[in-house]
Amino acid sequence: MTDVATPRRTKEIIERHGFSFKKSLGQNFLIDPNILNKIVSAAGLDKTKGALEIGPGIGALTEQLARQAKAVAAVEIDQRLIPILQEVLGAEPHVSVVHGDVLELDLQALFRDKFHDVSAVSVVANLPYYVTTPILMKLLELRLPLENIVVMIQKEVAERMAAKPGTKAYGSLSVAVQYYTVPELVCIVPHTVFIPQPNVDSAVIKLAMRDKPAVEVSDEDFFFRMVQACFAQRRKTIHNNLSSWLGKNRREELTRILQETGIDPVRRGETLSLQEYANLAAALEREGLKN
Ligand code: SAM
Repeated sequence: MTDVATPRRTKEIIERHGFSFKKSLGQNFLIDPNILNKIVSAAGLDKTKGALEIGPGIGALTEQLARQAKAVAAVEIDQRLIPILQEVLGAEPHVSVVHGDVLELDLQALFRDKFHDVSAVSVVANLPYYVTTPILMKLLELRLPLENIVVMIQKEVAERMAAKPGTKAYGSLSVAVQYYTVPELVCIVPHTVFIPQPNVDSAVIKLAMRDKPAVEVSDEDFFFRMVQACFAQRRKTIHNNLSSWLGKNRREELTRILQETGIDPVRRGETLSLQEYANLAAALEREGLKN
């Protein structure tokens, strides 16, 4: 049997099962084996490791993961795809298809159940674009014992995740992703390698998990809220954004704190490094300016 990720086999499976795509679930299936290979090899899997796939669709990526990894768990929200996945993947003991919404699922329990005897786990997925950021933030914030997250996402979102300070794409998403991981763009993917074709181009990004966050932060919730406040209006200075957030009566205090932290109050949020954000959060906390 040929692999799923070819136009002919994908069409054959879809037609035989009378499957109709749901745009609302971000269903764009990959039909290019070369791109699949790039995704799988970026994950660095071997027969001691596990792979968590989110949104397996009809199993194009899952069957490749099953060949490389010791254990594979694939979480699919669409009940109609479960019998198709069971047919495509067969009854392999190291591959589990889990029906559910990854945003609702108890992933810690899933890890205990499916990945208790592997040396490392990576998330490998062609993500549904409408929920990319919530899915990635859930994976990062849960602090799951992950090695890599290798995902196909919208090109523009991948660029924002990997963006460096001082660039237009750099924002609160870049800070959050780079706090937990080291991002690397693996490849850009044209929209022609999917059925049906999405309207946007895609990219594969590899997020290598850090052993510990990139910078030291005492209150993560405050840190991330402060970073978001600094980007609230991108054209405004850091001083203006922060004083809208903390209260206008704090303007002078804020000028002093920014200067003492070595941050020019007229700079914009997009120019601050992670270390500068961490220093700023520490200074605001020290001075009792915690929102
Ligand atoms: N992995 C397949 C491929 O590469 O061809 C399909 C990828 S398709 C872009 C995204 C898949 O995610 C769809 O099968 C969709 O039903 C599923 N999905 C959407 N939202 C989901 C969620 N919240 N939890 C789990 N799966 C989801």
